[in-house]
Amino acid sequence: MNQENKGSVLIIGGGIAGLCSAYYLVNDGWKVTLLDRGDLKDNCSYGNAGMLVPSHFTPLAAPGIVAQGIKWMFNSRSPFYVKPSLSTKLVSWGLKFMKHANASHVQLSAPSIRDLNLLSSALYDEMVKRDDFAFELQHKGILMLYKTEKMAEEEIHLAETAKSLGLDVAALSKEQVQQLEPHARLDVLGAVHYRCDGHLYPQALMTQLIAYVRQKGVFIHEHTAVTGFESSQGSLRAVLAGSKKFAADKFVLTGGAWLPEIAKKAGLNIPLMPGKGYSFMYKPGEHTLMHPSLLLEARVAVTPMNGHIRFGGTMELAALNKVIHMNRVQGIVDAIPRYYPELRVPMPEKKNVWFGFRPCSPDGLPYLGYSRRLKNLVIAGGGGMMGLSLGPAFGKVVSDLLGERQPLTAISLFNPNRFA
Ligand SMILES: Cc1cc2nc3c(=O)[nH]c(=O)nc-3n(C[C@H](O)[C@H](O)[C@H](O)COP(=O)(O)OP(=O)(O)OC[C@H]3O[C@@H](n4cnc5c(N)ncnc54)[C@H](O)[C@@H]3O)c2cc1C
Repeated sequence: MNQENKGSVLIIGGGIAGLCSAYYLVNDGWKVTLLDRGDLKDNCSYGNAGMLVPSHFTPLAAPGIVAQGIKWMFNSRSPFYVKPSLSTKLVSWGLKFMKHANASHVQLSAPSIRDLNLLSSALYDEMVKRDDFAFELQHKGILMLYKTEKMAEEEIHLAETAKSLGLDVAALSKEQVQQLEPHARLDVLGAVHYRCDGHLYPQALMTQLIAYVRQKGVFIHEHTAVTGFESSQGSLRAVLAGSKKFAADKFVLTGGAWLPEIAKKAGLNIPLMPGKGYSFMYKPGEHTLMHPSLLLEARVAVTPMNGHIRFGGTMELAALNKVIHMNRVQGIVDAIPRYYPELRVPMPEKKNVWFGFRPCSPDGLPYLGYSRRLKNLVIAGGGGMMGLSLGPAFGKVVSDLLGERQPLTAISLFNPNRFA
């Protein structure tokens, strides 16, 4: 990568989007400073399921999701919950979401989402090879496990679309999927194996990225919450954090689920809702798993990592809050033996349940590109359910944009000004 000094960049937010931006920018010769309001350990990029998902080419806003969501809302253990509220933010987000939950939006978006994820997956490989990262990156694919005929039909149909998009995917019989998991009995009708997918251990990734960028000279200011901006003549000049002021030539705004509130301080409208999810770790005995999976009817993610299995799920759309709804965690625990009858996973204690907020845009597409109003500001956020997967692609696109190079993939659908 280019090592010439290009000027200074200030990044807001130290989740995967901010850290990957720092990684590519510092390697590109920029003088990089990163601000985070916490210690970089309390964000969505740690306890997630660690899946790299070219398979997720369908945006969250898709046909059928609204009706399904309404059904689930009345079940306290269900995987999806919208807190009934008349908050203008939720209503406005919901209206936009409904407008996009249709087949033509899915058809239009799928190739761009696929390409961003494929690019990101290749960049993860490159990072491991180039910089000796060791975060358990594996390419065994993800098993989409189903138990019902209805889900089988939907999933196999989706797999056909995936194939037509050029993704490496195979429909497996019950016997074929069992062969892939020799240590744990499966009670399923079959599976679709997205061999194009991968997984990793997010804690190791994040810890190593932080150490790497620090060692390369990125100045990280922890416990430094952005409180305002200074701009003139259509450009940002400085970021304010309480009494501190950070000037730079260029700025990158991430911030995960907090992106809209930070953006608002700069006069920008970027609609997002936090989609709270939970996860916990379990140490398996003899019944270890060889592959990550999604338990489709239950919407539970299962990922072997660090000698454990991480179970994750639920999507609660509500204002940012730290309440852990143990009945939803119970919903995750109850689902496991329905698919893996020998895995009798005990209910975790509340203190061992992790939660994080997926940054969910109303059309299910990320925000990636230059701000229209502030011409030296690039926005990278709204990764939603695939923000970890998209991290390196976010970082690479950010560095390409600031370096005045053409990004390696089309980003026009991810225009961060599309709701402004
Ligand atoms: C249960 C669960 C499972 C998931 N599984 C997967 C998966 O398998 N694969 C996948 O790709 N994705 C998954 N995700 C989604 C993924 O974790 C997120 O999309 C991703 O981590 C978002 O990264 P981010 O950098 O945008 O935000 P975050 O990681 O949340 O980071 C945002 C940062 O901004 C900082 N910040 C906020 N406000 C300010 C401020 N005012 N000033 C300075 N800093 C500020 C925060 O402190 C934080 O550190 C999952 C999410 C959940 C909840």
